Amino acid sequence: MVGFLQAVLRLRLPFSLVNSQRITCMTLMANYAPLPVSFTHGQGVWLWDADGKAYLDAVSGIAVCSLGHAHAILAKALCQQAQTLLHTSNLYHIELQQQLGQKLVELANMETVFFANSGAEANEAAIKLIRLYGHQRQISYPKIIVMEHSFHGRTLATLSATGNAKIQQGFAPLLPDFIQVPFNDIHAIQALVEQHNVVAVMVEPVQGEGGVNIPDNNYLQQLRQLCDQQQCLLVLDEIQTGMGRTGQWFAHQHQNIVPDIMTLAKALGNGVPIGACLAKGEAAKLFQAGSHGSTFGGNPLSMRAALTVIDIIEQQQLLTKATELGKQITHKLAQELAGVEGVVAIRHLGLMIGIELNQPCVDLMKQALAQGLLINVTAQNVIRLLPPLILNSEEVEQLVSTLALLIKNFQDQHLSGH
Ligand SMILES: *Cc1c(COP(=O)(O)O)cnc(C)c1O
Repeated sequence: MVGFLQAVLRLRLPFSLVNSQRITCMTLMANYAPLPVSFTHGQGVWLWDADGKAYLDAVSGIAVCSLGHAHAILAKALCQQAQTLLHTSNLYHIELQQQLGQKLVELANMETVFFANSGAEANEAAIKLIRLYGHQRQISYPKIIVMEHSFHGRTLATLSATGNAKIQQGFAPLLPDFIQVPFNDIHAIQALVEQHNVVAVMVEPVQGEGGVNIPDNNYLQQLRQLCDQQQCLLVLDEIQTGMGRTGQWFAHQHQNIVPDIMTLAKALGNGVPIGACLAKGEAAKLFQAGSHGSTFGGNPLSMRAALTVIDIIEQQQLLTKATELGKQITHKLAQELAGVEGVVAIRHLGLMIGIELNQPCVDLMKQALAQGLLINVTAQNVIRLLPPLILNSEEVEQLVSTLALLIKNFQDQHLSGH
């Protein structure tokens, strides 16, 4: 009898697990821990699941879908491109690369560009440029200064550059010669850049994964000065901050500087995979035929996507919109959360918004999901909002009121025992 029951229990186990999430877990590697939802379609700032429940998306697929979902103009451009030409390889000229390259170097005041398919790949290109730059100056082991709590990607080189031990855990040996310093601390760098073999400083203008950390108003300017004095490359990872997210095309433009190298990805294609590494001055001329490459990099579909994204941002004046919406949302949030215990800070640059609590709040993602709101929590205790740049005022109200209530309840529950 006991044996029979055990057999039944064993048999029943798989049936109780029959839902799409569990089934996919059996074949997919376990490197993600997705929330218990899957979306079937989207429109603007909204996503829907298979039951027809609507979700206000304040994450944008991690700062990717800045134009929202299923954007009609972009969808049409992609359709047309798919009906015309998807891929030829970099064995041949790709006219759309010229067009997008031209547009990007104009917007960024840079000179040349390499196209990749992701953020990590764009940063790989940047790191290879830095190595070439060092070797050109007869430095055999060029060193790169990077920041604590930074994030630059998951490939071996980019995770070595990343200032997060959890991301590096288990993947030793890492690439050597990255020196970590505290973010937004110019003094920590001063002595280091004077060392002969330090050839670059690599930094996010606003740290995204690290908790929406915004540096002082003149930090990038000071970095620019130091790098100029020491002939170091200033390398900006604008993968999350770029393409209008912060209210300028690129976040460094808030501080009126130009980097030597800049990387882009995320919002550049609004969901079509693309990365870009831009360069200026000496760094712009380092790659020669055969130095670097990518089969998919710069393919016509992704080029068309980015060209269309830029068009739409310009026509709909989304930089201004991002600035205004950022102010509105954070202002309203500050009002709603005034007096709520344990709200440490509300930080933002444009529509890159961080609400820091005094305790871990990863659970809030699930609670918000139940309320039909998508938010992100990073660095354990920072609620990160990266909404599309196209929210209307009703959506702003809904986002703020839902979130404020969630935070109040969360803080009440978790602080009441104190
Ligand atoms: C997302 C991100 C990356 C990595 O981009 P992938 O496309 O995931 O490889 C690198 N740097 C920053 C700042 C990012 O936000």
